[in-house]
Amino acid sequence: MNIIFLGPPGAGKGTQADAISKERGMAHISTGDMLRTAVEVGTPLGLRAMQYMEKGLLVPDELVVDIVAERISKNGQQKSIILDGFPRNLNQAKALDETLKSLSYKLDAVFCFAVSEETAIARLTGRWMCPGCGANYHQKYMPPQQQGKCDKCGKTLQQRPDDNEKTVKERLKVYKKQTADLVNYYEKKSLLRKVNADREVKEVYEEVTKALDLLTREK
Ligand code: ADP
Ligand code: AMP
Repeated sequence: MNIIFLGPPGAGKGTQADAISKERGMAHISTGDMLRTAVEVGTPLGLRAMQYMEKGLLVPDELVVDIVAERISKNGQQKSIILDGFPRNLNQAKALDETLKSLSYKLDAVFCFAVSEETAIARLTGRWMCPGCGANYHQKYMPPQQQGKCDKCGKTLQQRPDDNEKTVKERLKVYKKQTADLVNYYEKKSLLRKVNADREVKEVYEEVTKALDLLTREK
């Protein structure tokens, strides 16, 4: 079962991908996470990517397409995959088709998470991340037990530098202009499944997992 989570920043893709991948033993492949690690480590890729990420712009395709292909190829056929935040434009979607074909992977579904712009802004500007284990919190919707500390590993939580209101608005603009068209691309391939992501985490989770169970039975 290989799937894509599509949708604007703040739609809850990472939150759901994290829960579902852990529960079902799938590989969660997030290009945002991979790029942030490269920035942190200071690799040549990270240094180039950082200039785009801090402005809320897409990192050039030639920097992203290859790291995804390499990651999927390393996975072998061991685990089903959830792609989170990739592809983000038509060129990436076509490159992904080629990668999947060459590695004999079949794409089973694309879940498109829909939220209002107000919801996305409120979620992103209140998001806190753990730099140690990557756990994700929200100051209002998913607060940690002890303010500012990770429930799982106790590290001090941080806000992502691109989660400020100005950059969030730019990221939402970029989504509308460059990524939203992928809905048509996957609709034409009969892979698209729309998810109302403007609800509680648990409700969104139930909708996605029900659809996955159905797809698994049909396979
Ligand atoms: P994305 O990966 O789509 O950018 P995230 O999964 O990181 O989004 O979620 C963005 C923020 O919103 C996080 O702080 C997360 O805790 C919170 N969040 C995610 N899903 C929901 C939801 N259904 N209701 C309320 N808050 C949510
Ligand atoms: P995300 O973690 O998905 O919110 O992504 C954070 C940032 O990483 C984006 O604003 C982009 O700058 C960059 N990024 C992540 N995925 C991609 C991608 N598939 N293509 C281009 N840039 C990406």
